[in-house]
Amino acid sequence: MAQQFDVVVIGAGPGGYVAAIRAAQLGLKTAVIEKWRSGDGKPVFGGTCLNVGCIPSKALLDSSHRFHEAAHGLAVHGIGAREVTIDVPAMLKRKRRIVDQLTGGIAGLFKANGVTALAGSGRLLAGRRVEFSAHDGTVETIDAANVILATGSAPIEIPAAPFGGPIVDSAGALEFDAVPRRLGVVGAGVIGLELGSVWARIGAEVVVIEALPDFLLAVDRQVSKDALKILRAQGLDIRLNARVTATEVGEGGVGVTYVEGEEEKRAEFDRLIVAVGRRPVTAGLLAPDCGVNLEERGFVHVNEHCATDMPGVYAIGDIVRGPMLAHKAMEEGVMVAERIAGRKTQLNYDGIPAIIYTHPEIAWVGPGEQQLKAAGQEFKAGVFPFAASGRALAANDAVGIVKLLTDAADDRVLGCHIVGPGAADLVQQVVIAMEFGASAEDIALTVFGHPTLSEAVHEAALAALGHAIHIPNRKPR
Ligand code: FAD
Ligand code: NAD
Repeated sequence: MAQQFDVVVIGAGPGGYVAAIRAAQLGLKTAVIEKWRSGDGKPVFGGTCLNVGCIPSKALLDSSHRFHEAAHGLAVHGIGAREVTIDVPAMLKRKRRIVDQLTGGIAGLFKANGVTALAGSGRLLAGRRVEFSAHDGTVETIDAANVILATGSAPIEIPAAPFGGPIVDSAGALEFDAVPRRLGVVGAGVIGLELGSVWARIGAEVVVIEALPDFLLAVDRQVSKDALKILRAQGLDIRLNARVTATEVGEGGVGVTYVEGEEEKRAEFDRLIVAVGRRPVTAGLLAPDCGVNLEERGFVHVNEHCATDMPGVYAIGDIVRGPMLAHKAMEEGVMVAERIAGRKTQLNYDGIPAIIYTHPEIAWVGPGEQQLKAAGQEFKAGVFPFAASGRALAANDAVGIVKLLTDAADDRVLGCHIVGPGAADLVQQVVIAMEFGASAEDIALTVFGHPTLSEAVHEAALAALGHAIHIPNRKPR
């Protein structure tokens, strides 16, 4: 007889593994199918995020930041450090150790929660049955009362720069065994800026080729302009309105032809990272009669609760609409597991923060000024520069701004966009405020420790109200 489960999850990335653990916690008999395996054939959990995404990229961002600080940021403190060197293989080894620790941890969590982990590929058939093809070649059909699809995403390839040799995707860019002398990056998005920064900090000359004339379109214009200035000053040569038209792989690297504005240009690189976005992974996942429909660009069609068109089948994370972020995938996993268990959990899609882990970080939640204007929303903006923050100055990190946006009618916080030190953690404070329906006045009346970077959020709220203390107000109120 076919194995039977209350919940079968296909894919054990942040969406799938969190969904499986939460479902098991709620007493549901749960299995998770994952096809990723290590060189020695063992199943590997954690998906893109843990293996080739969030975690390894942050490990390299941290290592490269420390190198850069030691080489260039200590003299101002009166600290002398001679001969700062970087051992790239050691840096990669540390990254791999962290990845192994975390992916192994997921296997432990599955065991502790009673989740059945199945190593192989899953495919959804009609009637909520799941075909499981194990790595050893055996195929079985599993009966599932509920199915959660969580198969994630993969890098987009462009015809002008097909992957191979010196042309790599984000996973390849986490594995360079030496610092490229000249590194090209196609796409000034999250991956391009994070991985471009990693290699630039440890000595690569980095040119970033971005198709759009605007930098970081989702970010408030004032903040993105500031971020562009800061990153260019760090040496990232960011070319906007530039499109790669051809590449030529040769012995020493890759020649890239691109059109910047109207002008055709050529550049030679040792390596080229192509980071122009990701696409949902659904190929071969759905039997034609399984009842689940796809949208235009291959995303699985779901409602606001991640239910597909087939009752009892859900889809979460990078294969559905919304930002491709690990925390969004995880919270969708929790929402779906809880709804299967009969709870009425919802996800507030307006309160999902986004962070780019450059230094300084760029972080935001909610709309920026240009989106509010386009929506016809009356708003107030409060801006506070880190140049006026005692803590940022003490840390020699006083660049960037906090911009808080509030509803002109009732003072409710609508969004916050930050470039500056600690932006990732600062924006989280505003996310909490927004979850509680806070106004700028609520933040203004909250006591913030001194001297902290958080005071920049406090002052931005005061600025929105017209009475910031540590900067002049346009019209004090
Ligand atoms: P995935 O993590 O892609 O997992 C899907 C899993 O499903 C995979 O393990 C895959 O092997 C498995 N699978 C696919 N098909 C099948 C099948 N048929 N049968 C069985 N298994 C299958 N997000 C952040 O929030 N913060 C960050 O700092 C961040 N950094 C990133 C850095 C990089 C370089 C990249 C590439 C991404 C980064 N992301 C970050 C994005 C984040 O990794 C994704 O949003 C997240 O991993 C999506 O989770 P998921 O569970 O939907 O899919
Ligand atoms: P992205 O959408 O962030 O950026 C892609 C960039 O490439 C855009 O600016 C786009 O205009 C540009 N582009 C597209 N086609 C181009 C072309 N032909 N030539 C030049 N430029 C082109 O995508 P990404 O950086 O590949 O990241 C993929 C996903 O992974 C993102 O959705 C992101 O949310 C997620 N991610 C998140 C983090 C994080 O949270 N810190 C880190 C890495 C990745």
